[in-house]
Amino acid sequence: MDPELRELYQEVILDHNKRPRNFGRPEDATNSAEGHNPLCGDHVRVHVHLEGDRVTDVAFEGQGCAISVASASLMTEAIKGKSAEEAHALCERFQQMVRDEREGSFADEGLDELDALAGVKEFPVRVKCATLAWHTLEAALKEKDAQVSTE
Ligand code: ZN
Repeated sequence: MDPELRELYQEVILDHNKRPRNFGRPEDATNSAEGHNPLCGDHVRVHVHLEGDRVTDVAFEGQGCAISVASASLMTEAIKGKSAEEAHALCERFQQMVRDEREGSFADEGLDELDALAGVKEFPVRVKCATLAWHTLEAALKEKDAQVSTE
């Protein structure tokens, strides 16, 4: 990877870790799920407000390593306003990217910041940190109160 790009990606991750977006619990959340990655100790709780089939609001709480927090923060920004089906498709694509199953960028969808986590594929032990919030989101979209674990 181009060193300049790597540095930019590093900055995105550090920024989202330091100032997570959509952090907290919306009062009107309709569904939530709790996710745990015992391998690293990451904990996340994802809250969504579903209106019909649309995710009108999404937020998260929790704590963990920089990758898990940044990924959760980036996830909320990417998912807000999407239909459940679009959110599911985005989750799949994101997981394929960090597991190195698929090349490609999110830039064409205006979600360039998600590309910052592409580097995780070089660190297999961190893949679960990066996917935790996304798994948890999928659980929240399916059930009103779900629990997931990466193990
Ligand atoms: Zn972690």
